[in-house]
Amino acid sequence: MGISYFNSLSRQIEPFTPRDPAGRTVSLYTCGPTVYNYAHIGNFRAYVFEDLLQRHLEFRGYTVNRVMNLTDVDDKTIRGCHAAGLPLAEFTKTFKDAFFQDLAALRIKPASHFPEATGAEHIARMIEMISTLIERGHAYQADDGSVYFRIHSFPAYGRLAHLNLDELRPSGRVNSDEYEKENIGDFALWKAWVPEDGDVVWESPWGRGRPGWHIECSAMATGILGPQIDIHCGGEDNIFPHHEAEIAQSECCTGQSFVRLWMHCKHLLVDNQKMSKSAGNFHTLRDLLDKGYTGREVRYVLLSVKYREPLNFTFDGLSAARGALARFDEWSRRIEEAAAAQPLDFTAAEPLPDDLKAEAFGAALDDDLNASAALGALFELIRETNKRLDAGILTPGQARSLVAWRDEVNSILQFQSGAAAIPAEVEALLAARAEARAAKNFAESDRLRDEIARLGWTVKDTKDGQKLSKS
Ligand code: AMP
Ligand code: ZN
Repeated sequence: MGISYFNSLSRQIEPFTPRDPAGRTVSLYTCGPTVYNYAHIGNFRAYVFEDLLQRHLEFRGYTVNRVMNLTDVDDKTIRGCHAAGLPLAEFTKTFKDAFFQDLAALRIKPASHFPEATGAEHIARMIEMISTLIERGHAYQADDGSVYFRIHSFPAYGRLAHLNLDELRPSGRVNSDEYEKENIGDFALWKAWVPEDGDVVWESPWGRGRPGWHIECSAMATGILGPQIDIHCGGEDNIFPHHEAEIAQSECCTGQSFVRLWMHCKHLLVDNQKMSKSAGNFHTLRDLLDKGYTGREVRYVLLSVKYREPLNFTFDGLSAARGALARFDEWSRRIEEAAAAQPLDFTAAEPLPDDLKAEAFGAALDDDLNASAALGALFELIRETNKRLDAGILTPGQARSLVAWRDEVNSILQFQSGAAAIPAEVEALLAARAEARAAKNFAESDRLRDEIARLGWTVKDTKDGQKLSKS
């Protein structure tokens, strides 16, 4: 049986096939954080789901070329930097750094590319795309100086969110990045400068201004991955207007179908309520780490419920994750011990007995990434092998196969504890950073710390020098 995933566009489970004629490489675009605040665990539900997707594809032999953008200019970041009295780049840097630390703490594999919307090449591409859209009659500059996408020029507008434009009667133009379905209208591609923007401004053929949020993702996605992408993900709130707008902009520009498979995760709830600052149930990862929970435990909670089911976050759930991981650790220790019971040379790995149903784990993931069923299969196998270990009937050869199987499962779940070997790339960056610090080049040292964080490691400066830990 091959892999099947639910496509938000067709609202059906479909067999997965990448566009690559060799069938090996998958391009994946995932909408990243808006860096105006610390990401909350709801955001991380989306990123952990995407991590599970990437690792599942890799487990099945695909190579994944993944882009995760950072939205470092939009309505929210501009408002935030002015409230903080900081230049935009300085304001967003704090949250970018925090984001990379959080990704590492949650054992999320770094994307192949982390483009930032304010990157000069991306702004240039946004301007180029908007020019093309104007040339082709899909966009126009309005009296307010901003450029808008003409939604009626693209009959498929509304397909992803399953809206019928004729029934909706668009209500004019919308300049804000986010809007409700009731206020549908021509949306802003380029926003003319207004005094509230302060010094956040770029030159363009339509005067000074800044890009809208939606064109940022279209430009970074098609700029890095090309006009056609295999999979595009986000949380369910991204479907409208963000992804709907991305399809319209990209397809009107390139003339090609933008994305094969749209995947969206359901929202995370806290104690069955929407997470919000006002309800006081708003958690960031660092809040939970401060309370003594680990990134591994939070990861467990976030991936334990299938991505298309609502996930209700509770502290009881976190305690249950702690218990489950302790069971996993204990089992891991026992199978390693059993595998080492005879010297390697004498004990060839034996196939796992069929009745352990080891393949049920991967099969559950192949079935639209059913993580809860996959964890069910894992813990069933743990229960069964523990019984055989207790009875002394698990052979060392079987135990060795189990260790190999555990490693495969762990390549997806990332549950295993213990110190990890430091990769050579991280060692090299660490050495370069020591040199930069000795030369008092702190900007370079900060840059290298970020690079190291992107590879999943945290470096701290202590009186004894740099201390490295797996984030
Ligand atoms: P934002 O920083 O608001 O652009 O959101 C970043 C990502 O997190 C997007 O993919 C959102 O859809 C997703 N997201 C936001 N809130 C939640 C939530 N409560 N549960 C799951 N995903 C969310
Ligand atoms: Zn996006």
